[in-house]
This record gives sequence, C-alpha cells and structure tokens, in this order.
Amino acid sequence: MSDLRELYQQTIIDHNRKPRNFHPLPDADHHAKGHNPLCGDRLELYLKMDGNRIKEASFTGAGCAISTASASMMTEALRGRTIEEARVLYDKFHKMLTTPVHEPVNIDGLDKLEVFSGVREFPVRVKCATLAWHTLETAIKDDQHEAKTE
Ligand code: ZN
Repeated sequence: MSDLRELYQQTIIDHNRKPRNFHPLPDADHHAKGHNPLCGDRLELYLKMDGNRIKEASFTGAGCAISTASASMMTEALRGRTIEEARVLYDKFHKMLTTPVHEPVNIDGLDKLEVFSGVREFPVRVKCATLAWHTLETAIKDDQHEAKTE
C-alpha cells in the first residue's frame, strides 16, 4: 500500500511539474474559467469539439499541486470522449473522492485518475481535485460565468 501511495504521489508531482496540455487553445469552441476560493486555485479550460466528442482539451492557470495535476490528467482523459462519457467519468471521480476513508473505493474505469484516491483523506483538498471538472461543466454549458467550487 505504501508503494502504491508513493507511486500516486509521484504521478501527481510529475503532472504538477510538467502539466500536460498546458496552453491556451486559440481555436477552442468552448472556454471557461474556474476558481477555488478555498485554496486560491485558478484555471482556464479550453475545449475543441468535433460534434459531441472532445477533440482537444487544454488549460492554463495557477494553483496548488493537486489542482494542476488534476487539470493536467483531466485534459488527457477527456480527449476522444463524448460529453456524456466525460460526465460519467466525472461522476465516478467525484464518488471516489467523497467515499469515506474507511470504506473501499471503487476505481472502476478511472484509469490513471485513480491516483487522486488519497485526496479523500484530506476533505479540504477535494475541491482542488474537482475544480477542473467543475470548470469543464461550465465550459460545456458555454456560459461566460466563472465556475466556483463553492
Ligand atoms: Zn488547491
């Protein structure tokens, strides 16, 4: 278990140091800003759609390691998924993060996003991990309001 936890932490640190898809998308057709006032994390999310499918996802912004790594891994996970598939994935991700620590966690279908399972031990950080996903929901709706985790 401690080896696994080490691996999870290494993955989060790696994505924080070298965030993937960390750039604006000039030809994005969806865009939204997200803010987690609890921690001060801010990000902007860009989506390029092909019909109902996410062709490209990228982000910019500044936040803590968990919010940056989460946005980085989310943009990787979104590529090629439909909006519905992305929502199902978020639902699973959110359930994992809100499962009480003493209960077994269901990581089915989460793939690499499983590395955030340790965040549930720190409820205050859950919003750091979900900020990118809240912002995704706002971007899909395409309203120009800022996504808030509150
Ligand atoms: Zn944070």
